[in-house]
Amino acid sequence: MKGMNKQGILTVVSGFSGAGKGTVMKRLLEKYQQYALSVSVTTRSPREGEKEGREYFFRTREEFERLIAEDALLEYARYVDNYYGTPGAYVESMLSRGRDVILEIEIQGAMKIKKRIPETLLIFVAPPSMEELERRIRGRGTETPEQILSRLRRAGEEAEGMDAYDYLLINDDLEECVEELHHIICSEHARTVRNTAQVKALMEDAGALSRRVNSL
Ligand code: ADP
Ligand code: 5GP
Repeated sequence: MKGMNKQGILTVVSGFSGAGKGTVMKRLLEKYQQYALSVSVTTRSPREGEKEGREYFFRTREEFERLIAEDALLEYARYVDNYYGTPGAYVESMLSRGRDVILEIEIQGAMKIKKRIPETLLIFVAPPSMEELERRIRGRGTETPEQILSRLRRAGEEAEGMDAYDYLLINDDLEECVEELHHIICSEHARTVRNTAQVKALMEDAGALSRRVNSL
């Protein structure tokens, strides 16, 4: 966007397990090059088809604790039986290069990021219904029935925190959802609070213009 701010926007995307966050992220990144998706560290085991460094950095509990001790994580949280955390270096370097960075993280981590970086944009992805959520999480077939129940239970708790988010995004039709997400982030770039230098310059120019025409 010409003339708009060059600093990237940090967006946090959260949502119930099985809502389709991963699917939405993958499609967004395929369609638009402006985004950088942060790859988290986790202590959970890889699912079939997941690749080290692509979906996650898979680490042992000890390795994860070392990262915490080294202050390498921007935030971390426990989700069901595992730990998940965001490496800080990647996020900082991408934002300073003007890329829009997306963190796909759960709600406790989202709140920590918002506290640390108040200008973070918070988006909550929900399925069209909770029946559909259950269908999707079971249909994915990557968790045991026991783990699925824990995740569905967690969804009930996470719903309590939804109103802390700036936007609610319903993932019904995938393509529509991806477009809506892209539009939200693009609109965010145009906000006056994110363009203070340009607002100030325009105010000064407008002042100069009115002084000139008043003297005619
Ligand atoms: P999350 O990352 O939120 O846990 P996933 O991206 O793994 O969710 O999606 C959960 C399941 O739902 C997957 O099997 C995926 O293919 C399916 N899914 C995702 N988005 C949609 C959609 N818009 N319509 C139908 N199924 C979807
Ligand atoms: P999954 O095991 O389904 O990949 O992820 C479980 C949950 O952990 C999801 O809600 C996902 O968004 C979240 N998550 C993934 N990475 C991180 C992270 O770095 N930090 C936090 N707090 N949550 C994460």
